[in-house]
Amino acid sequence: MVRFEDTKTAYNLKSDQELRKAYLLFKLFSKQILVSVGGKLVLFLLRIGLPIHSLLKNTVYTQFCAGTSDNDSMKLVNLLSQVNIKSYMHYAAEGQRTEAGMDASLERVLETVSLSSANPGLPFAVFKATALGSAALFKKKTAGISFNKEESEAWSRVLERINRCCEVAKNKGVRLLIDAEESWLQDAIDEIALDLMRLFNTGERALIFTTAQLYRKDRLPYLNCLIKTATEEKFQLGIKLVRGAYIEKETKRALEKGYDIPLCSSKEATDANFNAALALILTCLDRCELFLGSHSEDSAQRVIQWMKEQQLPADYSKIWFSQLYGMADHISFNLAAQGYQVVKYLPYGPVKEVIPYLIRRAEENTSVGGQSPRELSLIKKELKRRKQAKTPELK
Ligand SMILES: Cc1cc2nc3c(=O)[nH]c(=O)nc-3n(C[C@H](O)[C@H](O)[C@H](O)COP(=O)(O)OP(=O)(O)OC[C@H]3O[C@@H](n4cnc5c(N)ncnc54)[C@H](O)[C@@H]3O)c2cc1C
Repeated sequence: MVRFEDTKTAYNLKSDQELRKAYLLFKLFSKQILVSVGGKLVLFLLRIGLPIHSLLKNTVYTQFCAGTSDNDSMKLVNLLSQVNIKSYMHYAAEGQRTEAGMDASLERVLETVSLSSANPGLPFAVFKATALGSAALFKKKTAGISFNKEESEAWSRVLERINRCCEVAKNKGVRLLIDAEESWLQDAIDEIALDLMRLFNTGERALIFTTAQLYRKDRLPYLNCLIKTATEEKFQLGIKLVRGAYIEKETKRALEKGYDIPLCSSKEATDANFNAALALILTCLDRCELFLGSHSEDSAQRVIQWMKEQQLPADYSKIWFSQLYGMADHISFNLAAQGYQVVKYLPYGPVKEVIPYLIRRAEENTSVGGQSPRELSLIKKELKRRKQAKTPELK
């Protein structure tokens, strides 16, 4: 087993000052009311043009984002590479609505693919389907509603953008992750992801990775079906396994519209579903590659235990562990130190554009059962350890 409580390794790259700043930030996140009011206040102050960029940049932004531009972020990519942690970059502006905005998002993805091809520290790139096409189209497609002429043309452009990303990724030898989104958009994304895996994953290794959210009740049968299809049609599956990020939104919409909540009924049920999916994927690694997107120590230890039982080396090429930048460093850094394949998700972009991403991180850390208490206790432990290490022993 890997010792995740080794905080010296976990925070090796952080100065005392950076750690103290992170501590204050997670402390703030642990106050639900502050996050709820603070998020709205930040959006309001930005809207009326108050110059709070530098305040944000020096606090929450530095904790969770790699830099304002792709080049600016390369310093961090190279630093992480030195401790055996790879990265994947994502321009974190969310939900584009105009055609020009979607074209710009495509250019961003292509930029990260190009950067990745030139740097072994960046083995993956990623895109969110709703950055390349309007959510309204994904929603209609998922609901099985036919498009009118204008919508059909817009949908063709969405598919063109996505195909372009995959073609360029293929030519440059960069693997491409497709994020999972809300359930009312996801069937359309799944359909595209399956077509892409059929087309691009015909070699020994997966180029395209789809994402399965195991807080959804229907995802285990979905994964079984994917494996069956891939086996019959002889292509590789790339699977990013996550629990799922939109629990409040999913619940609210289902209650408002009066349909069954599509999610597991408790955290325990989600964990059981996730563990079952993990066991399934691990026994099908001849057909799949696993990208474990999780901050759960238990999930990581399960995979490690299984790898040990199978006598697989730590750097076994078909298993990746992934965490978000600024979170769960105790998992990423300790796994990397033991030789496992670790890849950090590095969002980047101008402060103003990544605010919605930052608010989501704050909310996620604030929610009941959120990750702030664990981050706080680990940072506290490390600050104490450093203080003791600096204090000369009394004779
Ligand atoms: C590298 C990476 C990539 C990611 N990509 C995506 C993505 O593409 N799409 C996406 O949706 N999310 C994505 N996520 C976020 C992910 O889905 C989780 O929200 C987040 O990682 C927390 O889950 P966990 O496994 O890390 O931790 P844990 O703390 O073990 O689990 C928390 C999760 O459990 C579930 N849960 C909590 N309470 C309940 C409850 N009462 N009932 C049912 N379920 C509950 C929720 O999914 C919650 O997020 C990604 C995360 C990472 C690290």
